[in-house]
Amino acid sequence: MARKGNKIIELSRQNISTHTYFRDEISIPGDILKRITDKGREYGFETVKPFRVENFELAQWVGLKCRYGCSQFNTNWSCPPATPDLTQARAIISEYSIALLLVGSHQCTNFHINSNKKRSGQVRFWKGTVSLERQLFLDGYDKAFSLVSGACTLCKKCTYPEACRFPTEKRPTIESLSIDVIGTLKNLGINTRVAKDPKELFKYYAVILLV
Ligand code: SF4
Repeated sequence: MARKGNKIIELSRQNISTHTYFRDEISIPGDILKRITDKGREYGFETVKPFRVENFELAQWVGLKCRYGCSQFNTNWSCPPATPDLTQARAIISEYSIALLLVGSHQCTNFHINSNKKRSGQVRFWKGTVSLERQLFLDGYDKAFSLVSGACTLCKKCTYPEACRFPTEKRPTIESLSIDVIGTLKNLGINTRVAKDPKELFKYYAVILLV
């Protein structure tokens, strides 16, 4: 309804029941998955794999790892306590059926140093994840939302608790939602282990909550 002078005019409404919503579909059309996989390769993702959200392992202990022993706690918008707690995380995930797992790998011999090289690799994966999320949104997946790997490094130093410099790129890490990444990968039949030698390839995992 709208007002023109003192008159109230009825605006015709589209019949929304004729719309098709991707979220009603449980599988992902092959052409969309292929396009997302191809686009993901441009950002270094080797694999894009759909999975059911029942495979997520959520646990209280994951938060302990963030709270104790991680230098990013309370210093970054993508990490606790700025991110949803376990109860909120469970509620959020219960609103989805399907998610995408993104897997990349990179050589990171200087993983223990905050170098520009290390940061540029992290930023590439981060931007890639958010870019795929955006593409999926445009494809009709209006609930698509990224959970990224590692604290946000888009800025050399996060502004937290002051306002984020790039709020449209800001996303929480997977672990910040109390998701046990290794346990979840096991549920998906993916064996992973902690890299012990800096010369080994490091795996990068990100998730896009989809429908
Ligand atoms: S974009 Fe910058 S300010 Fe925002 S979360 Fe990332 S590092 Fe922090």
